[in-house]
Amino acid sequence: MVTPDIFSAEDLVSTPAIFAGFEPPVRLAVIGDPVAHSRSPGFQNAALRACGIRAAYTRLHVPPSRFTEVLRALPAAGFLGANVTIPHKASALAGVDVADAYARASGSVNTIVVNGDKLHGFNTDGPGLSRAIREEFSLDLRDLRVVLLGAGGGAGRAIAVQCAMERCARLVLVNRTLEKARLLAAELAPYFLSERLSGAVDRLVAIPFEEEDLRRELENADIVINATSLGMKRSDAPVIPASLLTPNLLVYDAVYTRGGSRLLEDAAAVGARGANGLGMLLHQGALAFEIWFNRPAPLEEMRRALLADL
Ligand code: NAP
Repeated sequence: MVTPDIFSAEDLVSTPAIFAGFEPPVRLAVIGDPVAHSRSPGFQNAALRACGIRAAYTRLHVPPSRFTEVLRALPAAGFLGANVTIPHKASALAGVDVADAYARASGSVNTIVVNGDKLHGFNTDGPGLSRAIREEFSLDLRDLRVVLLGAGGGAGRAIAVQCAMERCARLVLVNRTLEKARLLAAELAPYFLSERLSGAVDRLVAIPFEEEDLRRELENADIVINATSLGMKRSDAPVIPASLLTPNLLVYDAVYTRGGSRLLEDAAAVGARGANGLGMLLHQGALAFEIWFNRPAPLEEMRRALLADL
């Protein structure tokens, strides 16, 4: 029996026994709406094969109205765990029985472990970004002055919490809707009350998406991270004016378009080092694998599968 690429909420809830009937049995999935675009099955199945684990990873297309019901049905269908993507990450935090500290702080869960009839929630997005930055630039977040664009979105919040938990040298939260950045700054303030003082400038600030504010902050930054949804389409407006980029600034774009984003093209044009979000995607997946199987993920096999998939 050929394993379909995608299953529905109804498949899981009404016919849970079918998942064990495939070879290898389907025991992991990414749950989303939409979910057909998800790259996770490609590199997670490559990891399962590379480690000789008899299990397959699929997609579950689940609308918000059925998400909680699907979560609760995972144990009976024989699932070991799942990933959760748009738009369910916040609901997943509410839906699990236990969540780790980082998932609670970031307000969302992207990785679930089935433990008997209990569900344990984790979030690997921020730790994945941290590993990607280390791999791309040989630098740790904790040593960097970070300007984060799109701090009010789901990915932006996860990255901001990671920066805060690693006590990065400085964090500037930029968001179109300034109020969201301000609220997040108030929440994260306790992480920045430490002995690591940076002199006259505050270590944590929230600013609007305004050119002059950005110019001032970027002059004192080591890295700018784009976590807005701008840049996914070639027709999108530039995330920030190219004139704000300088050769010493590192540029990380969480967007992972095949051809490279406009932001990264602008960075390359001024001689700045840049990287796209593929590393974050890969590492959040590798961390999820490590959580499910308590062993190192076969990173190079996963990377090869991800690049081949693109
Ligand atoms: P989201 O929750 O919808 O957040 C979108 C963010 O973009 C918000 O901060 C929003 O600001 C901002 N934004 C949207 N349009 C804007 C505009 N015209 N000008 C300025 N800011 C604008 O989306 P998300 O799930 O966080 O995803 C954001 C991006 O991260 C996407 O490109 C996604 O592909 C990428 N991502 C990558 C990974 C990875 O593994 N590499 C993982 C997750 C997400 P407001 O608050 O003002 O609306």
